[in-house]
Amino acid sequence: MLSRRQFLGSAAIGAVAASAAPSQGRLKLREFDYSQVTLTEGPIAAMYQRMRAHYLKLDEDRILKIYRQRAGMPAPGRDMGGWYDANGFVPGHLFGQFVSGLSRLHACTGDPEARAKVQRLVAGYAAAFEKDGNPYAHQKTIDTWACYVLDKYEIGLLDAANLTGNQQAKSLLPRIVQAGTRYIPDHTFDRVGVRQPPYDEPYVLPENLFLTYALTGDRRHLEMAKLYLLDRDFFDPLANGQNVLPGRHGYSHVIALSSGAKAYEVLGDAKYLRAIRNAWDMIEQTQQYASGAWAADELFVRPRSGELAATLTSTHNHFETPCCFYAHAKLARYLTAFTGDAQYGDGLERVLLNTILGCLDPDDDGGYFYYSDYQARARKSYYKQKWPCCAGTLLQSVADFPLNVYFQDSRGVFVNLYAGSELRWKPNGVAVTLRQKTAYPESEHIQFQVEASAPVEFSVRLRIPGWLEKPAAIAVNGKALRIKAERGNFAEVSRRWRSGDTIDLELPFTSRTVAIEDRVPDVVAAMRGPVMLAAIEPPDDLIAGAASLAQMDAVPGKALEFDCRTSTGTVRMLPFYRVQREPYSTYFRRTGL
Ligand SMILES: [Zn+2]
Repeated sequence: MLSRRQFLGSAAIGAVAASAAPSQGRLKLREFDYSQVTLTEGPIAAMYQRMRAHYLKLDEDRILKIYRQRAGMPAPGRDMGGWYDANGFVPGHLFGQFVSGLSRLHACTGDPEARAKVQRLVAGYAAAFEKDGNPYAHQKTIDTWACYVLDKYEIGLLDAANLTGNQQAKSLLPRIVQAGTRYIPDHTFDRVGVRQPPYDEPYVLPENLFLTYALTGDRRHLEMAKLYLLDRDFFDPLANGQNVLPGRHGYSHVIALSSGAKAYEVLGDAKYLRAIRNAWDMIEQTQQYASGAWAADELFVRPRSGELAATLTSTHNHFETPCCFYAHAKLARYLTAFTGDAQYGDGLERVLLNTILGCLDPDDDGGYFYYSDYQARARKSYYKQKWPCCAGTLLQSVADFPLNVYFQDSRGVFVNLYAGSELRWKPNGVAVTLRQKTAYPESEHIQFQVEASAPVEFSVRLRIPGWLEKPAAIAVNGKALRIKAERGNFAEVSRRWRSGDTIDLELPFTSRTVAIEDRVPDVVAAMRGPVMLAAIEPPDDLIAGAASLAQMDAVPGKALEFDCRTSTGTVRMLPFYRVQREPYSTYFRRTGL
């Protein structure tokens, strides 16, 4: 294994090994490319379009200003403010994430504007780097956040190279990694117990170094990736079923699971797969709110201790929404690909619909949604400082929405998420478009329409959600199918398809409650199918009988809106994602009556 110094020492040789390690056999399912999926209708597509428009307006001079200042170059444009500038928390931190997210948008939509923006940002960053060989925006970034920000440069340049064909990014990437290694430690470490900076976050470096290895073929990136895997303190105990999450920083350690996932994919060591599966289960069983959120005040709680319930009154900072969603979604996709299990799609659906989809839209000057708040009479707001970390992960998360919807294997397609969309691929060499027509979750009905250039056989597997309380109904060309459709599994519809064929899927939503934790069974959130509902303009104490919660009155003509009888009158219930600035409560005290 190479140390950092050996890496630097051998860098001049420029040895390029053969292609990256194969991952065949480890991937039961594969993602589709960004270019193969288009989001077309429903709230997920609507957010995608709003965020695309928002991020295309980013001012490139402002983003590059601090880099140009460092390099002594003319630096037009206003300061960014907030976290981003010289006196900010992490100077220059978002640059790589903006390049990454814009590259992903381009890959999906073919948008020439996004590609041109990537090109100009990479060129501007490269010009500053060429002046003095410093990849970072400021000395403060080097002193405090050298790993955390290096990782963002890597993913930005990787995505620019892989998804927009940017040759400058491709040649810059190994040079930035090499320059960055001057400032990062030669081993990984854990920030546990460190409450104030400098703590840095090397957790996701390995994932991006494995990807850098795949792009460059240079084995030094592979060896470097291994140096930063947090084995002793994290992956080893997790693989043995030891719950080491409590007290740890939520985002850092869940994004670290992506490094473990990539390690399994590239190295084939099953320890990493055991670790990430166990971690997923530990989070799902003992850390999550009804929404799927976790890590209040950014820390994991002690399981089944009452700590989770206590957070409902002790803090407003229940979920670092875009960053933690980003980490959660990546983990869910890795686990879906490795196992083919539907449970990870269930988990992804829950956290997507109830957390990130509920972010307030950003303003045009660095105001971004950060914490989801589950205290009584909460209000959504922007983070107290402009341009926080979540400004970067919001873009990357939303740009990845299309990847969450479908997976494939040699026999056909898996529908992992219900969302109005279109998939284009070539099963058995035949060009097929599969249209998913639905306003889900604002409709319980989903229709798939097949368009094929010739009749072709393939299999469509539909995720049957674990939350269903009534059976799903599936029909092909209007005729009900009697097939196995077990909750928590994929139901398979396999046939020779022709243009015009349809599949209709009905997922009956019911009302149910989810307790904050087992030992506090009467503090509950109200769910409708996969969607968490919030009470709007609620009384200070939200108290309702079990019967009222089970039988809320649907508001005519308004999807997913209900009136619920409480101890002090009727309250209107809306999906958390439709709440704007009005006060809301997510947890009820349930009485037996
Ligand atoms: Zn964040």
